[in-house]
Amino acid sequence: MKIQEVFDLYVKSDKKQSSLKAHKGKIIKYISFIGNQDVESGLDEGLLRKYIIEDEKFQPKGKYDALLNFYNFYYVEVLNVSKREVPFFPIDSKELESLESKEKRKPTYYVKGFNFNCLFEDRHYEHLNNHGAALAVKASLALALSAGYDSGEMFPTNREHESAMKMNDIFIEEDYIKVRNFSSQSTVPFIIIQGKNAEYIKEYYKLRESYPIKKKWQQSLFIANTWRTNELNFDSKIAQNGIYIPHDLVSYMLKYISLKEGHPNPLITDLRANMVLHSLYNTKGSALQDIIELYGFPPYVKQAFEKYCMTTARDKEPIFSVLSFDSIQSEDNNNVNEKKKVESRINVIDSLVRDSVKVKKLKEVYNNSCQICGEQITFINEISYSEVHHIQPFNKQHNGIDDKSNMIVLCPNHHQIFDMGIIAIDPENPQRILHVDSKNPLHQKILFASKHKLSSTHVRYHYENIFLTLRNRLLEISEQGIH
Ligand SMILES: [Zn+2]
Repeated sequence: MKIQEVFDLYVKSDKKQSSLKAHKGKIIKYISFIGNQDVESGLDEGLLRKYIIEDEKFQPKGKYDALLNFYNFYYVEVLNVSKREVPFFPIDSKELESLESKEKRKPTYYVKGFNFNCLFEDRHYEHLNNHGAALAVKASLALALSAGYDSGEMFPTNREHESAMKMNDIFIEEDYIKVRNFSSQSTVPFIIIQGKNAEYIKEYYKLRESYPIKKKWQQSLFIANTWRTNELNFDSKIAQNGIYIPHDLVSYMLKYISLKEGHPNPLITDLRANMVLHSLYNTKGSALQDIIELYGFPPYVKQAFEKYCMTTARDKEPIFSVLSFDSIQSEDNNNVNEKKKVESRINVIDSLVRDSVKVKKLKEVYNNSCQICGEQITFINEISYSEVHHIQPFNKQHNGIDDKSNMIVLCPNHHQIFDMGIIAIDPENPQRILHVDSKNPLHQKILFASKHKLSSTHVRYHYENIFLTLRNRLLEISEQGIH
């Protein structure tokens, strides 16, 4: 029996036309893809796999559902096999799930050189017929593009909006705006926004302050309904879209503008990934350090960086200026190697970021004060400075780990002498300092501050391998001096 004949039966059999409507097109495409051959060979694993998984037009779930339905029809309705005895469909749905989630996580990117200012052009907003609505959208886009806010941070997803951005997360200054940094991977508390983006936020802020917000649950939020829903109903398309809350309006506007600008895939959730990618393009990669400082290395930064590496690999541009990765230099230029290079770059950056965030968080716990003397070194503008020492040194020779149980926050002075082994933490009492000179006032002094637990293994390692080694050598030397 030919596959086309089975398909004709399938079309006739569907009384309600329900599943057929959704699947028909995909099955027709499959048949034209494989040709009209015997149904047995036409439903074999290799062909199904090619069409569902390896085909360029990547919508595996839809194709899978359509062909699974057709497959079951063939066995149950045509061959009269009982439902229980239908052989397993040759493609595992779990394999599909992992493909789906991979596909979903890939953001949509605007082309290199794209001018984001077009998202703010008045001509796109005219049809809204509402100034307050236009300002709210522009402020939201400006926050996403300059401070890396995503929709979950700007708009409450439901009425439990404790974590969403509030009026008091924003500070309006004369030349700039300060907004709270929502990134959990960063210890930079505020982000400074300047230029046009700041103007859009400022303009909306002014309106927002004086606009009476009717809905109680929106009253403390920054992005709220600065329009009445019925005011937007002049446009039937808007009414059709049911725009009742800011999130819906912003999504709608992004779709609308993307289409007007000739981009079929709207950037609804991808604005900040685009912001990261385009700042890498504009600075030839040297913005990476600032980006990581502000946002850490979450998936959207990682993906944008990956995209940047892939698109610039052939240009031979320097990827970034300061970090260097000796281990991944390679002259090979084929695609697999490029991919591997990108992956290893990402891994290296990932671990660098994790480390620096750990260190920063620990410094925050001690407010940048030395755990031994309590000193806090302050520069101008209330910027303070401290150093973090790995008790069992974090290098190949000593093999210490990068964990806070192996870290101590010190001033530069005490860092130096701890490093040398002149002082140590007492392994018998991790609150106590030991000094190689038992007459020194630091000897057996209790730590000024100790707010995190130290690992006894690391403390003992430093004591035995660094502190005692130095003390024994010093004793030898002083004995030689006596003789
Ligand atoms: Zn100190």
